[in-house]
Amino acid sequence: MEFQKFNFHPAIAANIREAGYVTPTPIQLQAIPTVMQGRDVMGLAQTGTGKTAAFALPILHRLMDGPRGRVRVLVVAPTRELAEQIHESFVAFGRQTRLKSVTVYGGVNANPQIQALKNGVEIVVACPGRLLDHIGQGVIDLSHVEVLVLDEADQMFDMGFLPDIKRILKNLPIKRQTLLFSATMPPDIKKLAQDILTDPVTVQVGNTAPPVTVSHALYPVEQHLKTALLLELLQHTDTESVLIFTRTKYRAKRLGEQLEKAGYKAASLQGNLSQNRRQAALDGFRDGTYQILVATDIAARGIDVSLISHVINYDIPDTPEAYVHRIGRTGRAAKSGDAFTMVCSEDTLMVRTIEKKLGAPLERRTVTGFDYNVPAPKKDAEFARPPREPRAIRKPTDIKKGTSTSINPFKPDHAGSKAASSGRPQVGRPGAAAGSAPKTIFNSSRRGK
Ligand code: AMP
Repeated sequence: MEFQKFNFHPAIAANIREAGYVTPTPIQLQAIPTVMQGRDVMGLAQTGTGKTAAFALPILHRLMDGPRGRVRVLVVAPTRELAEQIHESFVAFGRQTRLKSVTVYGGVNANPQIQALKNGVEIVVACPGRLLDHIGQGVIDLSHVEVLVLDEADQMFDMGFLPDIKRILKNLPIKRQTLLFSATMPPDIKKLAQDILTDPVTVQVGNTAPPVTVSHALYPVEQHLKTALLLELLQHTDTESVLIFTRTKYRAKRLGEQLEKAGYKAASLQGNLSQNRRQAALDGFRDGTYQILVATDIAARGIDVSLISHVINYDIPDTPEAYVHRIGRTGRAAKSGDAFTMVCSEDTLMVRTIEKKLGAPLERRTVTGFDYNVPAPKKDAEFARPPREPRAIRKPTDIKKGTSTSINPFKPDHAGSKAASSGRPQVGRPGAAAGSAPKTIFNSSRRGK
């Protein structure tokens, strides 16, 4: 099945060809005809599945008929980056249609947004806070909205936007088409869906599992060796563009600086940056000025960089959903990607939870030649987590450089080993798997500085 079958307006069809889209993704196959029929949709899909075009294309098609110069479509998204990305899709697919889209979010001057709204637009892509400001000041009229899209609803919920969404809904006509997209379905989102969708069609792809094109691996390592191991990994892995996640803004900033010092073209993206600097970091990552972007979860939401070859979790995420989200940044739209996660002994429980969600054990890898034996500095830098309880089971004599019987809290399994197929990660049993061959990395070393 190809895009022609949807019979989009000729201008839109030409833009689809121009974008190089030939075959619709599964979510597009399911959602486009449903949205075109005017039905409400509950879309269970994560980023990377093609969900933006799944709603943007039929919405543009609908807007070709009917009045111009008033807000007929409202898209609400959790982050500025995602809002920009959706807006860009509307602009690209809406070329030669004279339909206009504007983004509305905080952290930037409100006047250009107000001016654009005054000039007349059909599509508004907004983050909740600034949209409510505009509503409060009476500079946006939402009484003619025909289609509402709530994108990444679970993220909006995580970020505490649910009350804002409810306030926004009060300003919209009751009779409208509503499309709700979410990667996961926590109870609050289910309840929201029941409240705001009328006889919805549920479209679902991937069973909310990460893209199949991503290969995952865990790199067990002690906290104080993470940066050294990361540098080793980067040096020996054929990476194009790498998105690295840290747990805190501070760690993102520090790591970005360390990578720069090591000679990489790296930038960090964290909430403390001004909007201009965030945009510069993102643009630089997109156009290849930066090969590496270090970010926190919040800062990275909505990043769509289709060429990301590797996602590296410098710190493991707090929830399995966040893991799926993070690694959804690579392997997008059937491109293959790699997701590496550095894990310490305190991450054992989270690793288990993630493996449970994925339904499969994750491969443990060690890096040959890397000295896992370097002791922690006496005064562990600010970077490290608080000191851990001493682990009685660890004996310095067990440590062998570059082998599976290293200091690693996890036993690295080779693919197909018993432990791997049993679904159980081997945790904290040094010496128990002597002879198991950990997968090592030794790819071509294109450093790409
Ligand atoms: P999304 O899930 O909307 O963030 O899309 C992920 C990436 O897939 C974006 O870079 C899109 O441009 C790309 N994409 C979406 N649909 C298609 C398609 N049918 N063919 C090729 N690329 C696509």
